[in-house]
Amino acid sequence: MKNLRSEIIKYSKMLNSKKLSALRSGNISSRYKDGFLITPSGKKYSSLKNRDIVFVSLNGYFDKKKGIPSSEWKFHQDIYRNKKEAKAIVHAHSTCATAVSTHKRGIPPFHYMVAMAGGHDIKCAKYATFGTRELSKNILKALKGRKACLISNHGQIAFEENLPKAFELAEEVENISLQYITSFKLGKPKILSVNEMKKVLSKAKNYKKG
Ligand code: 13P
Ligand code: ZN
Repeated sequence: MKNLRSEIIKYSKMLNSKKLSALRSGNISSRYKDGFLITPSGKKYSSLKNRDIVFVSLNGYFDKKKGIPSSEWKFHQDIYRNKKEAKAIVHAHSTCATAVSTHKRGIPPFHYMVAMAGGHDIKCAKYATFGTRELSKNILKALKGRKACLISNHGQIAFEENLPKAFELAEEVENISLQYITSFKLGKPKILSVNEMKKVLSKAKNYKKG
């Protein structure tokens, strides 16, 4: 548990240093026992100590005396409740993913790497006020068959089987978003066919990362 808290702090600081989320924006959690450990609300990542990381049970209980969890604890809770394979979650206001999300649209298969999010495209969750159960419901919908999505007028979210992988996926979503925006400089990008994306998805299953 001590190691898990330290790992969450390490990756929270990387939200800033890798320019994935500026200042206090974004949040990170890791599944733990019958709940999850999550970054506290509104604290600067550079100041975080192990005791600042808050435990929230899967039914949404936390001890206020031990700290206030991220304002987004509800969508972390709902992802852990609905996706058994989710072991860690990274939420970021990364610049390019956020920029695309402000157009209230996801990312089509303009590049085969959208498959990294688990499907033929990257969906964008419908807007709802931050911290609400409504936002959480919208995110679950956009994550159907996926492990990453954009969040309209807000940012992005990625989950994986561990925190290093979830963080890398969030970096990948940001990279894809930058390429997508850049492609518009030459006009509307050409989209890969459904058939081609099927091939990519089946190849991606066997693709081992070093
Ligand atoms: P918290 O500091 O409460 O986690 O809020 C950051 C954020 O990104 C809200 O969407
Ligand atoms: Zn946010």
